[in-house]
Amino acid sequence: MPLPRRPRRAVVPALGLAALLLAGCTTAPGGPGGPATPGAGSGTASPSAGAVTSPARGGSSPAPTGASTAGGTSAPGSPASSSSTASRSTAPATASSSPAPPRSSAPAPGAAAGHRDPASLSVLVNKQNPLRPLDWAPADLVTPDVPATRSGLTLRAPAARAAEELFAAAAADGVDLSLVSAYRSHAYQQDTYAGWVRQHGRAGADRVSARPGHSEHQTGLALDVGARDGSCTLETCFEDTRAGRWVAAHAVEHGFVIRYPAGSEAVTGYSYEPWHLRYLGTAEAARVAAVGGVLETAWGFPAAPGY
Ligand SMILES: [Zn+2]
Repeated sequence: MPLPRRPRRAVVPALGLAALLLAGCTTAPGGPGGPATPGAGSGTASPSAGAVTSPARGGSSPAPTGASTAGGTSAPGSPASSSSTASRSTAPATASSSPAPPRSSAPAPGAAAGHRDPASLSVLVNKQNPLRPLDWAPADLVTPDVPATRSGLTLRAPAARAAEELFAAAAADGVDLSLVSAYRSHAYQQDTYAGWVRQHGRAGADRVSARPGHSEHQTGLALDVGARDGSCTLETCFEDTRAGRWVAAHAVEHGFVIRYPAGSEAVTGYSYEPWHLRYLGTAEAARVAAVGGVLETAWGFPAAPGY
């Protein structure tokens, strides 16, 4: 059941972009929930093209290929298998014709565990590690059966089932959650980001909106949750709501981590977002939580404070 639209959203841009570092949680410049500004086609100057070096390009490791069922492989119920079965689709086959740019001699972190495979439940996406290809889309999107602020929100099947369990467990404890945002396509993010650039320039846009291909929401494994009553939606004060406290205490049990914990901005590139959850599966979520809850650190990736 949709919530009444909250006029407070409109205040977001006026608050000053510096106050918000929404990790791509922000949608259209007009405010979250609104349609991505149509007709953004003019200036969609593929922002990230060339901006990111591709450390994974040389990944010609003898991958156990065959897991070509992109997206659907790892058994949803047994998330622990996601990392072990390393369902690596053959790495970015974009054969580098030109000599590879200079890069550190260190092996690309996370290559073995599927952290660079967009179809893996353990994929890492941040400002230094976009999805490859940039317009990658999941093949197993479904609509979770949970209350949401708007219709049509989808997640990858394993994440959707886990979200249903999370919401049901919360409800059993008397906490009413609402799904605020879920999967967002490359095209949607492109329009959204372009809209922000038009309004605030690229630097301003980067503070509130992820560049296309760099939003964890594009994996289909990330979702933003809120309190059903709409209090503190997409605001840091969500952590102090009953819903926020419940989520912080129980997300891991259902296979999610708070992706951008407080105080980790220098590593994740985003300020604290108590509402943004990333699905990992119960085993990996517990493991990551046990070592501090920051994916970059847990998986051996360097800090990614910026593009
Ligand atoms: Zn988010």
